[in-house]
Amino acid sequence: MSSFIPGEVVVLSQRVRRITAPNPGMMTGPGTNTYLVGNRELAVIDPGPSNREHIEAIVRTADAMHAPIRWILCTHTHLDHSPGANLLRDLTDASVIGQIARHPNAQDPLFTPDQHWQHGDFLQTDEFTLRAIHTPGHASNHLCFLLDEEELLFTGDHIMEGSTVVIAPPDGDMKAYIDALHGLKQLPLRHLAPAHGNRIDNPQQIIEALIWHRKMRENKTLDRMRQLGPCSLETLTPSVYDEVPAFLHGIARMSLLAHLLKLEQEQTVRQQDGHWRISD
Ligand SMILES: [Zn+2]
Repeated sequence: MSSFIPGEVVVLSQRVRRITAPNPGMMTGPGTNTYLVGNRELAVIDPGPSNREHIEAIVRTADAMHAPIRWILCTHTHLDHSPGANLLRDLTDASVIGQIARHPNAQDPLFTPDQHWQHGDFLQTDEFTLRAIHTPGHASNHLCFLLDEEELLFTGDHIMEGSTVVIAPPDGDMKAYIDALHGLKQLPLRHLAPAHGNRIDNPQQIIEALIWHRKMRENKTLDRMRQLGPCSLETLTPSVYDEVPAFLHGIARMSLLAHLLKLEQEQTVRQQDGHWRISD
């Protein structure tokens, strides 16, 4: 396990360096990982929060490599991922790449990409290729970036190391999230580089485990609904998340709502007068 010292440059591979932002916390783990890809011309993935110290650490690293930053790619626009893009663009004139989220809630309101990428869009240099994989679920505009040459996927918040991703409707969508995980299984992957936590070197196993974890939670939800009968989200949450400390039940409630909306889409459950019930 490598440690996470803000501003320290960690060389992950021939083409990839990691600098962690000084924003550790409950939702960000050790802090947001910013990745620098390339050696002669650089792409920066997830510049992180608007933190001058962190942005200067990125620029200093590029300067020491005598490599200009040409592209700033944002996996999504939550506040710990993209706000640093404007600051970094001002200092480098790099092109900002990303998508705008469908719902403005909890998004970076100042995010103004120069290039709106869709699934399959890519950039190629003589050193590397980065390809967008649209992975909605955690956020509607979430893109993972595949570094072809190393079969390494920058997973943003779609997959984190050591913690479960929050799916908060309406921008979060459990069905889309699980479908996107299944989609990743089709890719040639040797490594995952998450925005929070360490590099993951057993991608297929981890992706399977994440799908399994969500399936277990869904099964538990249906079990508890059968026991409790029609009930509100507030009543159901402590029952479905009885192994989770109560102070996390606010977050758990969002994930449970995401599960219920998925099940509603699949016509397994329905909602009436603020109560959820299993469909007849
Ligand atoms: Zn996020």
